[in-house]
Amino acid sequence: MKLIFEKSVPGRRLSLLPDCDVPVCKLPESLRRTTPIGLPEMSENELSRHYSALERRSFGVNNGFYPLGSCTMKYNPRINDEMSALPGFADIHPLQPVHTVQGALEALALAEQLLCEITGMDHMTFQPAAGAHGELTGILLIKRYHAERGDTERTEIIVPDSAHGTNPATVSMTGMTAVSIESGPDGRVDLDKLKAVVGPKTAGLMLTNPNTLGLFEKDILEITDIIHKAGGLVYYDGANLNAIMGIARPGDMGFDCVHLNLHKTFSTPHGGGGPGSGPVGCKDFLAPYLPRPVVEKEGEGYTLDYERPLSIGRIKTFYGNFAIVLRALTYVLTLGREGIKEASTQAVLNANYMRKKLSECYDIAYDYTCMHEFVMTLSGLKKEKGITAADIAKALIDRGIHPPTMYFPLIVPEALMIEPVETESKETMDEAIEALLDIYKVACADPESLHAAPLTTPVGRVDETAAARHPKLRYEG
Ligand SMILES: *Cc1c(COP(=O)(O)O)cnc(C)c1O
Repeated sequence: MKLIFEKSVPGRRLSLLPDCDVPVCKLPESLRRTTPIGLPEMSENELSRHYSALERRSFGVNNGFYPLGSCTMKYNPRINDEMSALPGFADIHPLQPVHTVQGALEALALAEQLLCEITGMDHMTFQPAAGAHGELTGILLIKRYHAERGDTERTEIIVPDSAHGTNPATVSMTGMTAVSIESGPDGRVDLDKLKAVVGPKTAGLMLTNPNTLGLFEKDILEITDIIHKAGGLVYYDGANLNAIMGIARPGDMGFDCVHLNLHKTFSTPHGGGGPGSGPVGCKDFLAPYLPRPVVEKEGEGYTLDYERPLSIGRIKTFYGNFAIVLRALTYVLTLGREGIKEASTQAVLNANYMRKKLSECYDIAYDYTCMHEFVMTLSGLKKEKGITAADIAKALIDRGIHPPTMYFPLIVPEALMIEPVETESKETMDEAIEALLDIYKVACADPESLHAAPLTTPVGRVDETAAARHPKLRYEG
């Protein structure tokens, strides 16, 4: 397929631009471009065909099964988009006086109230633009809490090795030290190992729950208790709340602070880099440190409170990715209290259904009842037949299924992580199970044939190392 620049013909134009309806003012000579900008030149018809052709070559949740573990690539209901596109939301400016944007503030306040109810928190900020950004905000709150008490010796945050990789990275970004603890044989936090590292330097603990193996931490109350008794605070990585929303609440488990990924659990767009939203909830005692401004009730209406002397400051411009919050709010309101719970129970049921069926052939790492996802390990097949997790993933592409997450979590060799989510039907899952079982048979009988997969795509196997080390990010015509 030709690049859009290669299709360009000098002088060819798009359809008509509307007449300019504002006064034209001349830019100073020094600011003017001296050479043409070099955009492709083509007709609207050709442009439309070009992008449609590109679309046909990509694969998304609208094209077929997309079992992308840990990312909750679930269907984004169209009504979410419709609501966020309402002119009263879409056409406002962040610098408008608050009395003219009361509806928008009310939407933020309502989203805060509902997500606090789901997480068991007292307050929430919508400024963070992603999960990792929310983690940074939350750990800064914890750091500020200790600093305000003059407790400056606390510089360590404990992070189990089954945590999401962003957790230790976040700790480093705040200038604190991440202390890793190895999981027990059941894939969960080992309480003895935890107790061994807790001490006067402990500022807190970050827990990914369900952890990256898709397992619920069974000693969760003891874990939060151990940290609190040592004077630390506990942070809940709630990026994947898909298994527990409406059923269990981090606030009731003793957590002081939590982030959510609206672009995972709460069905807002995900992929291609955003925009995301990683709101952070906290208990009352951490609220003075939240990023400013915060939305507050004032009389019959709402206002934005900037007067927060203890605030950690701004984390992002304005109020976060507002249109994404609107989509999540729509999702919560359309599902309702019962629907939220049903989504979680169905997600867990679907994951366990696939886990059970696939365990006929595949080795499940830590084969216990899982939450929203589970992890298979291909290390046996690799040893016997030379077939890797990547081979299986590529073979799935030829059968019209998007590969699951590969080689994650790092503590499982040759990992394939499957997360069907609640929006997939039994028929779709059965087809995927059949495809995976069939690929397994091929892997045993004729392993060579799988090394070449995928065969049905415009590009087969790429040299991933070269792509990462020597990326070509510019068109060189
Ligand atoms: C996805 C994820 C994150 C990071 O979220 P981003 O929006 O990608 O920054 C953090 N923790 C867990 C458990 C996740 O699954």
